[in-house]
Amino acid sequence: MKTIALLAILFVSYSSWGKVSFKWLGISGFVLDDGVTTLVFDPAMTRAPLYDYLPFRAVQSDEAEVFYWMNRCGIKSVQATFVNHAHFDHVIDAPMVVKKFGGVLYGSSSVINVGLGQGLAAKQVQKIKDNDGWKIGNFTVRIFDTPHAPHIMDIMLMDGNIEKPLKSPTSIWNYRVGDTFSFLITHPSGRIIFQSTGRVMDEDKLKSVTADVLLLTIANRHTSENLIQQRIIPSKARKLIPLHHDNFFYKMNRDKEIDYLWGVKVNEFNKALENAKSLKPIWPKYCEEVHIL
Ligand SMILES: [Zn+2]
Repeated sequence: MKTIALLAILFVSYSSWGKVSFKWLGISGFVLDDGVTTLVFDPAMTRAPLYDYLPFRAVQSDEAEVFYWMNRCGIKSVQATFVNHAHFDHVIDAPMVVKKFGGVLYGSSSVINVGLGQGLAAKQVQKIKDNDGWKIGNFTVRIFDTPHAPHIMDIMLMDGNIEKPLKSPTSIWNYRVGDTFSFLITHPSGRIIFQSTGRVMDEDKLKSVTADVLLLTIANRHTSENLIQQRIIPSKARKLIPLHHDNFFYKMNRDKEIDYLWGVKVNEFNKALENAKSLKPIWPKYCEEVHIL
């Protein structure tokens, strides 16, 4: 009898810790949930086709698209939304998520200005900086400064900061990068790294950070080898989910097929991992639940 009681206590305390599940929202957007607390990162389900990059075009968060994907992922309320940098394809739906699903928007001053411009109140935004640690439920989110790599040659598109609240709709070119952060998310069940850039730079703040799970941007990577040797192996992660490989110029495909980003070379990345005898990546579809911890 005593044993049963003890097992029951162990079971209850284990399940109240909760296991952490991951659901991909496209690009580098995802949801982490432990059954009590829901965190969202980089929600950008609104997509802009190439012609929206023309200078006279204006873009805005698509409420119907946000609701479709949040519902499909089964998200009812959110405690915190983190955004790694203020480019359109990471930040566009973050204010909408906070407005409609609750919680606080965490990001650089540029990200905060996107939130304020889309009508968030001062208490709904929180500026973050390198080395901060934010506790939300049983999660702690630690912030690392990891500068955005240039897009083409040495050119960085949409460089600089968003200096004042950015009204919406506006040109996509007004979504200036601001600071770029990566995150270490710790939970009683384990540790997760979200690396927001596809490159490991010389000054590498994540160098000695280890985790159970690695959520890794692979768009705009220098080489697959660079990511394997500099991040995947040193992180000691047991699970790897590559991010930022779907085509963000297209609307998110609802029939579960992923349109790959031009030039992202998913097969080459898989092959390089195999050759390095590295861990096998998980490639979930949109909103597919993965028990990561
Ligand atoms: Zn960017």
